[in-house]
Amino acid sequence: MKVIISHDVDHIRPREHWFRDLFFSKLWYRETANLIKRRISILEWTFRCTSFLSKRLNNIPEVIDVDNCSGIPSTFFFGMNQGLNMSYKPQEAKAMIEYVKNHGFSVGVHGISYNDENGIKNERESFEKVTGFEANGIRMHYVRNDENTIPLLEKAGYQFDSSEFDKKKGYTIKNPYKVGEIWEFPVGIMDSYLDSNLETMKSQTLEYIDLANKEGIEYLTILFHDFYYSKAYENYMKWYEWLIAILQEDERYSFISFEDAIREMEKAK
Ligand SMILES: [Zn+2]
Repeated sequence: MKVIISHDVDHIRPREHWFRDLFFSKLWYRETANLIKRRISILEWTFRCTSFLSKRLNNIPEVIDVDNCSGIPSTFFFGMNQGLNMSYKPQEAKAMIEYVKNHGFSVGVHGISYNDENGIKNERESFEKVTGFEANGIRMHYVRNDENTIPLLEKAGYQFDSSEFDKKKGYTIKNPYKVGEIWEFPVGIMDSYLDSNLETMKSQTLEYIDLANKEGIEYLTILFHDFYYSKAYENYMKWYEWLIAILQEDERYSFISFEDAIREMEKAK
């Protein structure tokens, strides 16, 4: 089974949230509740609640280090519009997009518009304006989609989308498939839909990978938010390192990019 690793960049710097959204006030409320319920340590609570003072909220350089060392051709999806607490503007993402590109990784759009033709077109055009090249792929923020999303993305010129996800189950065991000219890569495993307890995260992950093997899945897409690769979210950070290690150790698995997976699937047809 080939594994595609991808990262959604929901946050870049603290200041993009100032006077634009309620991200930090919601975070303080949520994390204090987590502390009271003993779901997180005081140290984690402190790191999370003081993150508004940090220089950056993204952990892209750290994730790139891990992916680089492990030979993972991952893709980073960047927002070109604002909504649902993703509040940076395209220009504010430019430096990080260039950083990702210069390190040899792929970049796509983290979409906001999922059912509005013009909105989808505008986001793709903004990406081209900021980066100087066309986006091949997209994943919707909060994996939002409806029955029109894939045809609209195809019309906008995307080669692939990776927004299908079974929120009820918390995982999706399904091979990539083509709709017209566009490939859909369902998100197999997503960090934020796993339990927050590290041991449970690991057992859920093993269960889903096992299921994918049994179902004969050829390409399994995994989503890890770079935001979580930090001491403030220690379990997520440890989970990602563990995940990469178990996939690397097992010769049944290898890593591939969306683009190379498409090339292989087109060739096999
Ligand atoms: Zn997102």
